[in-house]
Amino acid sequence: MKKVSSKGIEDRKRFIKKIKRVVIKIGTNVLTSVGHRLDTSLMEHLGQQICWLIEGGKQVIIVTSGAIGAGMQILGWKKRPSKIEKLQAAASVGQSRLMRFYERIFREEGYNVGQVLLTRDIFESNERKANALATLETLLSYKIIPIINENDAVASEEIKFGDNDQLSAMVVELIKADALILLSDVDGFYDADPKNCSRSKLISEVYRITNSHLTIAKNASMSELGSGGMVSKLLAIKRVLEIGCMGFIANGKRPWVLRDIFLGKNIGTIFLPEKKNGLEK
Ligand code: GLU
Repeated sequence: MKKVSSKGIEDRKRFIKKIKRVVIKIGTNVLTSVGHRLDTSLMEHLGQQICWLIEGGKQVIIVTSGAIGAGMQILGWKKRPSKIEKLQAAASVGQSRLMRFYERIFREEGYNVGQVLLTRDIFESNERKANALATLETLLSYKIIPIINENDAVASEEIKFGDNDQLSAMVVELIKADALILLSDVDGFYDADPKNCSRSKLISEVYRITNSHLTIAKNASMSELGSGGMVSKLLAIKRVLEIGCMGFIANGKRPWVLRDIFLGKNIGTIFLPEKKNGLEK
């Protein structure tokens, strides 16, 4: 069951039309299938939808996870290591595999991709932030698809983002995007943890993230491979709502998820900023 209101559906369509620049974060659980293997047919399907968006005049920036998961699969590691240097090694191996797939997928559609690996300290220096911004703007101006991940191979505790949800919110701020789409393996935000409560309902639209939303999220379980959970998603979206952007949580494994979001179909959860936002102007 889904909680929907007609105001919500109207708002959804109205806001979606205004999106020009969008950051799409693809989580590890979306990109990997059984045995942490990269799901290339799903990546192709998402890639085709991203090209459809670009052809429709949108600018798309991808934030990808999956490097550690892919590295673990290549190295035959069944359990996520806890030692930072082993995680860094897995990320180093997995990141190049990940990019090889993205590059192939987008090249077939006629697009080049540009890998951008970031660490938190970049956002703490105006000069480095300006450099990162200039790179991203230049890539977009040439219709090259920026593919961002945390630079896991060198990210020590002090310079880590924590997870790619926070990284993607910071990228939204940096490049002044209109929307952040978090693709995960859940259908959206529920009013109770769907894994433990069979009567939980998917909430179609949220206008403001409150403490009660965060409490519900805290009770939802954490994913095994990715490092973010529902709390981290809500915090990332809260951050972009505060600067007048909209947010989405949707299931990246759902066929045509991106196309359907942009056609205004009632899928996932949309988070709409309150009145004083840039999109409203
Ligand atoms: N940067 C990590 C990776 O590529 C993922 C972090 C996250 O799951 O949020 O594996």
